[in-house]
Amino acid sequence: MLIRKSLRRNSALQTTLYLAVATLLGGLAVWSAASLGERNARAQLALHADETLELQSDTIVGQLEKYRLIPGLMARRADIDALFLAADPDQADAVARRLVFDMTALSGAVDAALFLPSGRLIANATGYLQSTMITQNSLLVSALQGSLGRASISGENGRRSYAFSSPVRHKGEIAAILVVAAPLESIEQTWALSVNPIFALNRSGQLVAGNLIARMREPEIRLALLKGADSDAFLASSTTSGAYMAYSRSIPAMDWQLFVLEPTDLISASARDNTLIALLSSLLAGLAGFVLLVRRQEADRQRRAERLAAIRLERQVRDRTRELRLANARLEIEVDERRTAENALLKAQGELVQSAKLAAIGQMSAALAHEYNQPLAAIRSYAENAVQFLARGSKEPVRDNLQRIGGLVERMATLSTTLKSFARRPRSGSSDVLLETVMRDSLMLAGHKAKEAGIVIKTEPVPDALMVRGGQVRLSQVFVNLISNAVDANIQAGGKNVFVEVAADDDTVRIDVLDEGTGIDQEINSSIFDPFFTTKDVGEGLGLGLSIAYNIIHDFGGTLTARNRNGGGAVFSVTLPRALPMASKSRAAE
Ligand code: ADP
Repeated sequence: MLIRKSLRRNSALQTTLYLAVATLLGGLAVWSAASLGERNARAQLALHADETLELQSDTIVGQLEKYRLIPGLMARRADIDALFLAADPDQADAVARRLVFDMTALSGAVDAALFLPSGRLIANATGYLQSTMITQNSLLVSALQGSLGRASISGENGRRSYAFSSPVRHKGEIAAILVVAAPLESIEQTWALSVNPIFALNRSGQLVAGNLIARMREPEIRLALLKGADSDAFLASSTTSGAYMAYSRSIPAMDWQLFVLEPTDLISASARDNTLIALLSSLLAGLAGFVLLVRRQEADRQRRAERLAAIRLERQVRDRTRELRLANARLEIEVDERRTAENALLKAQGELVQSAKLAAIGQMSAALAHEYNQPLAAIRSYAENAVQFLARGSKEPVRDNLQRIGGLVERMATLSTTLKSFARRPRSGSSDVLLETVMRDSLMLAGHKAKEAGIVIKTEPVPDALMVRGGQVRLSQVFVNLISNAVDANIQAGGKNVFVEVAADDDTVRIDVLDEGTGIDQEINSSIFDPFFTTKDVGEGLGLGLSIAYNIIHDFGGTLTARNRNGGGAVFSVTLPRALPMASKSRAAE
């Protein structure tokens, strides 16, 4: 929780920092773009103005140049002398008038005039030029000094023109002054197309020529020019129609200063456009950066969350492993306990087997007593006979009787050996045993009971050297029990025969014990192999026989099953793994 809080704080800090830096950079970009735009626009304006100035100054010079030369050239004409040589003043007037008419007609000037050095008018062509026009400026003075005079002049009707004056010499003396007034309308007409003010000022600051807009706004332009006169380009502001930048260039030939005023709208528009573009670009870049930042933060958050989950998982796995280890330890203890319990059980089972066997022997003891009594009685009678034969002195029957006695003793010894081995505790484990031996011992032990009850045990001959996996004593115990049970069932149901059948294939050997008894009740079928299950009266059965037999056969890797015969009675089938025939092993195991 704490970590998550600090992460969130970090993200917020990052975002704030980003926004601050982005705003700063954006502002810087906007400012740079605006000033760059302004600079560019100024440069463009200057370039444009420069081009206009150059063009217009060339136009002025071109247009006025021809008028500049006219008075000088006319003054040197050969027929000019006729002016001073004329006999009467009328003739001189006529010459003068022709001269100025010619000058005006040929050049297209506003007027041409001839003056006396005193400034008195001799003749003019259109009546425009008057003597006051040359005395008030440098036209007369310059001409009298022998140089070209020039001045902008204004007629009585307000018409403006630019005049050039030149001295006319006669006999080395300045005899007259020739003046030509050049029109400025054509120049102003070429400027009329421009929407920006264009005008020219003479040395004394008079507006010599200008387009309409320049004339209309002359007072304010003059004021602005006064303020910014130091620089080549300055702001000529206007309250009515926007602001202008003024650019100027001098025209030395006319001694004029030509001005062009360019509107500053372009500068502010360019600055505004650049500002807008920069602002938009900055916003876009900022937005993109912000999206990237948010994405990166998100990715960081996810990575951290994954790392946290991994750590949590690791911890869980560690805890789980610890739990498992503990559970394992507990299980090991349990297994040990179970093994101990199993051992105890096995021991108890062994005890039970033993007690069951002893119980069987107890049951068999009556039959066994009979088995022993019979040969003992026979031995006694054979012995008595032998004594009598001995008294009679006949030796041959004595030997015969003694041999019979020996045979009977032999039989009793065999019976006692079998009993002894049956009563003995079996060894654990299994080996290979001859099935024939097992069956012979079993029949010997169980046979007496059958015989007593008048029941015949019919045994199929066991194939020679047929060996099974098992233990001699324990297998005998199984078959003694099965045969004994079969006899009991027969007694109960009045059956006469018990059959023992043997069948073998390559891997297994099957031994069936069939009887003609009661058969197994369907209800108890599932319980007959349970320990202490018996249907017999108290003292007659413990209910352990089948349960022990079942375990013994399973220990040897075989099976024990029970079913009813078709014609009545039951069948108990034992299957055992077949062993390789090795005669030497037959009794070795137990
Ligand atoms: P016990 O013989 O002491 O009763 P067993 O475990 O040998 O103990 O047998 C358990 C029970 O199985 C018997 O009480 C009997 O009811 C039944 N049983 C065993 N063998 C047969 C058989 N051949 N026919 C019918 N019932 C049998």
